[in-house]
Amino acid sequence: TNDELAKWDRESFFHPSTHLGQFARGEAAQRIVTGGEGVFITDRDGNRLLDGFAGLYCVNVGYGRKEISEAIADQARELAYYHSYAGHGSEANITLAKMVMDRAPEGMARVYFGLGGSDANETNIKLVWYYNNILGRPEKKKIISRWRGYHGSGLMTGSLTGLELFHKKFDLPLTQVIHTEAPYYYRRADTNMSEADFVAHCVRKLEELIAAEGADTIAAFIGEPVLGTGGIVPPPAGYWPAIQKVLDKHDILLIADEVVTGFGRLGSMFGSDHYGMKPDLITSAKGLTSAYAPLSASIVGQRMWDVLMQGTDEYGVLGHGWTYSAHPIGAAAGIANLKLIDDLGLVKNAGETGNYFWQTMRDEVGGHAHVGEVRGEGMLCAVELVADKDKRRFFDASEGKGAKVVAAMLKRGLIARAMPQGDIIGFAPPLCLTRAEADQIVSITKDAIAEVLG
Ligand code: PLP
Repeated sequence: TNDELAKWDRESFFHPSTHLGQFARGEAAQRIVTGGEGVFITDRDGNRLLDGFAGLYCVNVGYGRKEISEAIADQARELAYYHSYAGHGSEANITLAKMVMDRAPEGMARVYFGLGGSDANETNIKLVWYYNNILGRPEKKKIISRWRGYHGSGLMTGSLTGLELFHKKFDLPLTQVIHTEAPYYYRRADTNMSEADFVAHCVRKLEELIAAEGADTIAAFIGEPVLGTGGIVPPPAGYWPAIQKVLDKHDILLIADEVVTGFGRLGSMFGSDHYGMKPDLITSAKGLTSAYAPLSASIVGQRMWDVLMQGTDEYGVLGHGWTYSAHPIGAAAGIANLKLIDDLGLVKNAGETGNYFWQTMRDEVGGHAHVGEVRGEGMLCAVELVADKDKRRFFDASEGKGAKVVAAMLKRGLIARAMPQGDIIGFAPPLCLTRAEADQIVSITKDAIAEVLG
């Protein structure tokens, strides 16, 4: 029964991103999800909810796609598992590797498959260190990340993540990680700055950090093309080319964390293409399989690949990998998913319907006295709430305004996400969203904001 399941859940399991004590005592929300179709999910209490966040911005092709579940079932029947160590593999993982490299930005050379975004970033950081060791510069190890960046929650990736919640009480960040300014124009300290001034300011901050630490100690810079969990913040115009120039000057590698933006979310296959970034490494996960099975990709650029190939001669083998690297079931899901993205034209739809969605949101709710900014790019949108719009004064976090608006949406059948820092409501619907569904999200958001904030 529902009651039994809820009890077993409280008594047996602990959930990520949850207040453990409140949950165990039965004071926090529980939802047992049973199914999904398109942009909707259903739960055991009989609710049908429009999922405006595609799970955790990952169910990009939408729920209930038989093409993917059947590919998974076929693969499981044929070969559920074999490893990829020492030159072994499966037809599925080789085929997917070819498909990924056919879609990857120019200059990328090889792909390695893991399980999720965090482990793909761990792989990429290890490759950066391995690369500098082969080049005989072991002191060039520090990684620059940005405040409000999100790169996972392992020891290294939690360190790279620039959100206090992921550091406090975990003794993070690790010493090799340093953080620089987020390209968050709306929250700039000096409101007189133009967008161009603000980009120059971010560049200056980065230059100062590099000068203070010493360029010969810094290996790489990691960033999401669009800041995701830190607030869904597209970069100001010209940000990436300006950052790229600094990195090139100091021989610092660029890791594009495309766990959210990879495989179409911005309306381009990769965010790197979208913003003209020239990464040495790309991290990808979510959209690679639309989360039908766990799989991640660490994509390595040519300049690193040429060096990495030399390193394995010295040590014999690359001392890195997991039992489940390139898992055949994940690979089968990835193949079916990428085909579906092509067949349904979802990259194009993410650009067209996505931009229609967030621009309609801006037109409809942007004028509200407590909406400071509505921003977006492709199928990503954020509504930032403020106590005082003219003075750009934010609500006190203890008021939980964002969470209250999200709760009011849920009552109306819509899932959105109260982002973890600031009263920011995030949307990242499946890439198959229609204009009618976009209108429905906007209309519910408008009503929910009116209910909570007048
Ligand atoms: N990088 C980015 C940009 C992410 O958004 C996430 C997860 O949301 C991760 C890395 C970590 O991925 P995972 O949760 O699959 O480990």
